[in-house]
Amino acid sequence: MNAKKKDYLIIGGGIAGLMIAHQLRKAGKDFLLVDRQEKNTSSKIAAGMFNPISGKRMSVNWKANELLNSLHSNFTEFETLLEAKYLIQANIHQAFGNIKESNDFASRLDVEQFKQFVNPEPKVESALIDDFGTFEVIGSGWVKTSDWMSDFQNYLEHDQAFFKAEFEWTDLLYSNNEWHWQEQFFSNIISCEGYQNNSNPYFNWLPFKLCKGQVLLIKCPGLNPKYILKRGVYLVHQYEDVYKVGASYEWDFEDARVTTEGKENLIEKVKHVINLPFEVIDQIAGIRPTTRDRAAILGAHPIQKNLFIFNGLGTKGMLQAPFLSEHMASHLLHQTPLFKEVDIDRFKSFYPNGQ
Ligand SMILES: Cc1cc2nc3c(=O)[nH]c(=O)nc-3n(C[C@H](O)[C@H](O)[C@H](O)COP(=O)(O)OP(=O)(O)OC[C@H]3O[C@@H](n4cnc5c(N)ncnc54)[C@H](O)[C@@H]3O)c2cc1C
Repeated sequence: MNAKKKDYLIIGGGIAGLMIAHQLRKAGKDFLLVDRQEKNTSSKIAAGMFNPISGKRMSVNWKANELLNSLHSNFTEFETLLEAKYLIQANIHQAFGNIKESNDFASRLDVEQFKQFVNPEPKVESALIDDFGTFEVIGSGWVKTSDWMSDFQNYLEHDQAFFKAEFEWTDLLYSNNEWHWQEQFFSNIISCEGYQNNSNPYFNWLPFKLCKGQVLLIKCPGLNPKYILKRGVYLVHQYEDVYKVGASYEWDFEDARVTTEGKENLIEKVKHVINLPFEVIDQIAGIRPTTRDRAAILGAHPIQKNLFIFNGLGTKGMLQAPFLSEHMASHLLHQTPLFKEVDIDRFKSFYPNGQ
């Protein structure tokens, strides 16, 4: 590493860190991204699905159109830069679990914002169990997240903008308005450490409410890979006859390891989605950086100068990161005010010396 001062040191190379790196790179900023290369991070195991409709209540995501537009434009840029295809458009065929869900859906069809994202009468895949009917989500899909992450990390590494290392906050010094780490100088630091924010001495007071998730990889010959199938859990095509199934939402957990119970629950749920035989070939677990109010956390440390956070992407990192990283970059580079929904300022009373 050379000793020239860089504009930013980004800590964490998951979806958050890589997206903010992309925005800073486009703006011509000089940065170094440090990542410890763990095997099963939230970003690496995510299905990478983007879906503008959320949860049992079928609510439309905050700023859904802006999020989707930004996702598409950013991945068009990545696909050009890295000469690979990452974003796969695939409508979701979502079967209702009971008659109430079907009725709730029907009553929401009057809402214009909801209607634009759904087709109430899709031609349903024969493998999908749809005793109570099915609707189609339009504009959804998934990103080959692991491929994109490793390709972009390699690209940045080649540019000497990516460094594989454990970042220890105790090795960091701040003096004369600049940061000093491993014989290098930086004007600013952006923390993108996902759930490991709890080991960050500057930001560990923020109210994260972490959520463990487990997924299965199953082999299921005969399924049509064109659609994402969903009924409680989703099945997203990966390669050949292999699908990712997920995910569990575990708010009380001891560690990030896979469990037998998690596996059995997911297997039972798959049996309620499809009527085809399948074989489990792998099981993976990770921890989502979810926050108390389920919104991301962006912005500057309340006291320490030149220190920022971009985290809390929660259950929807892929949908949110492109738009929010553009928003964060605009805040960093042009002091654009942050949306109050994601501004770290909303939690300032949690800061130990805050008021
Ligand atoms: C089972 C599961 C399924 C999911 N499915 C989807 C989905 O389909 N669609 C979707 O949009 N979202 C999904 N998510 C959520 C999504 O994965 C997260 O929102 C997103 O990955 C968060 O990204 P991140 O970069 O903030 O965190 P992380 O992915 O945790 O990345 C943080 C990175 O920082 C590194 N790091 C942390 N501290 C340090 C340090 N001190 N030094 C060096 N490196 C450090 C870590 O090693 C890691 O690489 C899913 C999550 C799970 C668990």
